[in-house]
Amino acid sequence: MKRLGSIAAVLLVFILSALALIKVYDKGKDQKPLRYADIPQETIDWINSLGNGLDDIFSTFSPVPRPTPWGNKGDVGKDPETGLETLEDEYFIIYYPKSLSKRAELTLRYAHEAIPRMEDIVGKYYYPEDMNGRKVPIYLAVGNEDYAALYKKIGGGDAGNSDGVTIYEISPSGFFLKGIILKGSSVFRDDTYHREVQWHEMTHYCFGASIDYNQRVNLPMWCTEGIAEYTGITGRRPQLGPQDIEMMRKDCDLSAPYFPYVFEVYTGGHTIFCHMEDRYKVSGVKAFLQTVYKEGIPASMKENFSTTVPAFEADWKANLDKFNPRRK
Ligand SMILES: [Zn+2]
Repeated sequence: MKRLGSIAAVLLVFILSALALIKVYDKGKDQKPLRYADIPQETIDWINSLGNGLDDIFSTFSPVPRPTPWGNKGDVGKDPETGLETLEDEYFIIYYPKSLSKRAELTLRYAHEAIPRMEDIVGKYYYPEDMNGRKVPIYLAVGNEDYAALYKKIGGGDAGNSDGVTIYEISPSGFFLKGIILKGSSVFRDDTYHREVQWHEMTHYCFGASIDYNQRVNLPMWCTEGIAEYTGITGRRPQLGPQDIEMMRKDCDLSAPYFPYVFEVYTGGHTIFCHMEDRYKVSGVKAFLQTVYKEGIPASMKENFSTTVPAFEADWKANLDKFNPRRK
């Protein structure tokens, strides 16, 4: 009897554990799998260093998964203390001070107009359904002061000299856009510039969300800023004086994390993508990006253009004069 009792006890324990396991499994089925379960340290370092000194991308890595759904409940703009108004539709939320209500309407229009451009060049637009229900929050600031305050509240960093910024977090749950901020005093000087800066920042959003963070990623700044200029600025090519071109020939190493001067990173980066388009058409630029998201730049140059980074760099430098409008 005694022996039988202990067998029954063992069986009971066994059945209970099996039930518990089934329960755990059922619970697991409801949870979304972590998108980035194992982010390499090199990639984490890159995420945390992005925008270093230029302040128009502010990205951070968080090891803690972000619970879903994401939505927009926690947005800084929802806090009545900010005094911001809200203009919202199915994809976007614009947070703005009353004095910028006309700009808010324009911002919403430019946001919608950006979608096909992002789909075309970056390869995908990220709708709320791709972001656990989160709409893109765009904040409008009047000038330096409220811009810096919003920057600090949303990102926790210092605004520096930037006119616009895209603030995001990468965690095992994926890419989370905290917000885009535009500084009115510099960005709203004319409508074209407003659209260009807004599309530049929206490119950071879609490009950043397209990268596979499970891979070792360490992209140079000419790539992140250059593609934002290339996608954001339509209908005109960058222009450079002969001195700028000489500087870039000396300074710019396409394999280095960044170029020494700001104009080299932005305008210079823009010329790199324009040159790529001249050589391999827009379809080449798009194919290049698709491979970059998963395998990085050297692999993408090899796969798509059968070339190396130094060979592409030499060809780009040899042809930089085409960006000098005064050349004969
Ligand atoms: Zn940028």
